[in-house]
Amino acid sequence: MTWLTDSHIHLSDDEYSGDMEYILTTMDKMKIRACCVSMDNASSKSTLDLSKRSSLVLPFIGIHPEKANDDLDTMVDLITLNSNKISGIGEIGLDKTYVSDEAGFSRQVLVFQKMLSLAEKLGKPISVHSRRTLDEIFSILPSYSIKGVLLHWFSGSKKQLQKAMELDCFVSYGPAMVYADDKQVLLSQTRPDKILLETDGPVKFSKCFGMKTAQIAFLPSVLFCAAGVLNKSYDEMLLAVERNVDSYLGV
Ligand SMILES: [Zn+2]
Repeated sequence: MTWLTDSHIHLSDDEYSGDMEYILTTMDKMKIRACCVSMDNASSKSTLDLSKRSSLVLPFIGIHPEKANDDLDTMVDLITLNSNKISGIGEIGLDKTYVSDEAGFSRQVLVFQKMLSLAEKLGKPISVHSRRTLDEIFSILPSYSIKGVLLHWFSGSKKQLQKAMELDCFVSYGPAMVYADDKQVLLSQTRPDKILLETDGPVKFSKCFGMKTAQIAFLPSVLFCAAGVLNKSYDEMLLAVERNVDSYLGV
């Protein structure tokens, strides 16, 4: 039995707290594990607590660009103290939509670079938020030696996808790919050994998902769609992405 991995979900989000027992049982029954990313110090602690409840929760902690003003020193300590417990660092990255001026963006860059240097030092993979900042991120990444770099919810151009492949990044596709042709085209042009799948819950997805909060149980639909786009069987696709997950996580 091959497990399926959600490479990016925020299970520590309040949206899920009331259903956690059910979610963890579902994960076990559906054979799905998840890279659970965090937003800030508080959600990173929740993610760590969650990982104590289930080995299917692979904890990623860090500061998201939306929370760039959170206490950086405390986060550095949290990551360092828990380096043997965490699977990776994330969600980290850059996003100008969350800042109003240059100083705000400089702070995001500072926090991002600190997270990258920790990932390099501790040998951890990272989960990167790159909305409309791929070019900036491409200029920063080569200064660090990090084996597992995931550009989650990849939505760049074909040229940017090529650059991501040159830099040996993984890219992930989620529920939006099920109904968006442009994402399917990107998937078809992604190096097969760099494809990961995700839900990015608790994001709500439109079209066939009816604005429902993304659940881990959406993942088989994403896998089914990816298999169709790449002319593979469901099981072939499952094996391929799981090999990629292991390579991303360095296990
Ligand atoms: Zn996210």
